[in-house]
Amino acid sequence: LVIFELTLVAAEKTLIERIRRFALQSRNRAVVRGIGDDCAILRPSRGHELLVTTDFSIEDVHFRRQWHTARSVGHRCLARGLSDIAAMGGEPLACFLSLGLPPKLPQRWADEFLQGLSRLAKSYGVQLAGGDVSASHKVTADIMVVGQVPAGEAVLRSGARAGDLIYVTGELGSSAATLKQLLAGRKIRPSIGSRHFFPDPRLNAGAWLRRHALPTSMIDLSDGLSIDLGHICEESGVSAIIDAKRIPVARNSTLDLALHGGEDYELLFTASVKARIPAAIGGIKVTHIGSVAKKDYRSAIRILDENGRARALRPLGWQHFRA
Ligand SMILES: [Mg+2]
Repeated sequence: LVIFELTLVAAEKTLIERIRRFALQSRNRAVVRGIGDDCAILRPSRGHELLVTTDFSIEDVHFRRQWHTARSVGHRCLARGLSDIAAMGGEPLACFLSLGLPPKLPQRWADEFLQGLSRLAKSYGVQLAGGDVSASHKVTADIMVVGQVPAGEAVLRSGARAGDLIYVTGELGSSAATLKQLLAGRKIRPSIGSRHFFPDPRLNAGAWLRRHALPTSMIDLSDGLSIDLGHICEESGVSAIIDAKRIPVARNSTLDLALHGGEDYELLFTASVKARIPAAIGGIKVTHIGSVAKKDYRSAIRILDENGRARALRPLGWQHFRA
């Protein structure tokens, strides 16, 4: 084990230097001191609070190297954290990456991973401001994203009230449909427009909604509508009823995958019936899918089927790759 660690010192050093080079590609004003000291120094704008979120991306749990290109893995790794910032209505500032790589992994893989990550970082002005590297048996990436929001204005999961309406951005089920095909053995070339391989976090829509003080609660759809809407119900102490006919099912998908498939990274929010919610925000459509009701101890979520009959919607969600 010692030899294993000794041989790594040189490799780690070059990896750190490469990460530093990538980190220089995207700067953010809030980062007073980035990579190169014991800690990064961040200075949020006056009157703001910091948002902090961490997410694991682990080989064979969140991605597979034979399915996902290194660019896609790097992109998805950061997109997960950015999506959490979007769900609070925040603005991302910096990210921190702890990266574990198998010693035999080609250097090109690490480079392309960093390219995928920094391309997305650049498009939202996020600075890679620190992290750590280590040898590990499988690719393990732990990303931490720091954002900011005006003090007291972050949109929480806990603000939904009976009578509010429920909305989602974009379309649902696309990412799970791709995953289902991959699981069935289909070879799919990762394309930039794919919601599965290169999800675009809804930062602009989330910040727009927060600025206009429209949502009473909000969450990003990472685990699937049936699970994530359940989180809002739980935190807000309410129940929800959604209408199957209103769910914006992605063209490549099905209602079932739209209800239970994860990793769409769209925003799910509630708003007062009096709030005027636009049909689209910055080109991303917004769909009214149901309404909030008083807490119901039998089922947190009910769904109206095509015939208008209500049934309980179990929170199945996507069990990552266990299916
Ligand atoms: Mg989230």
